[in-house]
Amino acid sequence: MAFLLLSCCAPCSCAVIEKLALAKEDFSVVFYNPNIRPLSEYQKRCVENKRVCEIYNVPFIELEYDNERWCELTKGLENEPERGKRCDVCFYMRLKRVMQYAKEQGFEAVASVLGVSRYKDLAQVNRAAEKAAQEVGMPYLEIEGRKGGMQERRGELIKKLELYNQTYCGCKPR
Ligand code: SF4
Repeated sequence: MAFLLLSCCAPCSCAVIEKLALAKEDFSVVFYNPNIRPLSEYQKRCVENKRVCEIYNVPFIELEYDNERWCELTKGLENEPERGKRCDVCFYMRLKRVMQYAKEQGFEAVASVLGVSRYKDLAQVNRAAEKAAQEVGMPYLEIEGRKGGMQERRGELIKKLELYNQTYCGCKPR
């Protein structure tokens, strides 16, 4: 089944990309992260994620950087904590756009690594994905990125590949 994997950055996606590539899964990585600021940081993470995909020979797609729209959608939620209401909107926006893109391009499902980091609420990501999946009519695949040695492998790959590892999620420092 051909599917798209929404990735936020190289550190969160490296172990998942490696596992899927070794299993010879039919997937492409899509980078849709208009939440990342400033633009220079966005570019840095995008280049690094592309580098990981090249290592594993996985197609990499970059969608538009519409930070203006992201700001409009999250207006009034600037002071929400990480895992709060702003993150609900952010996850939903990104997943829905990627699901729409997947539908246009003939992919059969969408997955993501948005809940891989230990700072994230995986249930919150899954709720946003379910909502978007129902609206778009695109199945969402839950992919394991934390358990079964995945966190340890993530740490190993960050070191081995000398990945740029940012200190904040995307919209603002912790
Ligand atoms: S903390 Fe991360 S997930 Fe939450 S709104 Fe900001 S960029 Fe999006």
